[in-house]
Amino acid sequence: MNDSGRDPGAARNRENVYEVSKLDRGTVIDHLRAGTAVRAASVLRLPPSCPMMLGVNLESERLGRKDIIKIRHYELSEEEAAKVALISPDATLSIIRDFSVAQKIDLHPPIAFRGLIRCTNDVCITHSEGIRGRFFVASHDPVTAACEYCGRHITADHFEFEKNA
Ligand SMILES: [Zn+2]
Repeated sequence: MNDSGRDPGAARNRENVYEVSKLDRGTVIDHLRAGTAVRAASVLRLPPSCPMMLGVNLESERLGRKDIIKIRHYELSEEEAAKVALISPDATLSIIRDFSVAQKIDLHPPIAFRGLIRCTNDVCITHSEGIRGRFFVASHDPVTAACEYCGRHITADHFEFEKNA
């Protein structure tokens, strides 16, 4: 990467390179666990040609290593934010409007939720009856969800996310 021509002061602080304020409008998902950005991006239903940047394995004081997603001209739905929280608990969501942070949200997995994921138990009644799953979070780190219908515990690595409508 050629950094010449950039403000040398910005390079001194590596976190500054990814400064959020450069988005005119959009969303920054920060403090994602390292290695989760691609999966988190995959649960978003972005419009075609929506610009998105992924940063992977960046230095972080809080996490050691972290991932980050910047999306231009897009704000996450509540469902998308909940899915991201299930993939990477304790990520932060910043809504950018007019080049500044309009809202900053600490994401946490919901305590109980309907839908979002599918039960991985093939014989669960949710599949045979075609009903949306209901889950509660049985443990936080890594996130484990328990199906209210069959009791199956599903860890975050095995979540099969519903497609958003
Ligand atoms: Zn189930």
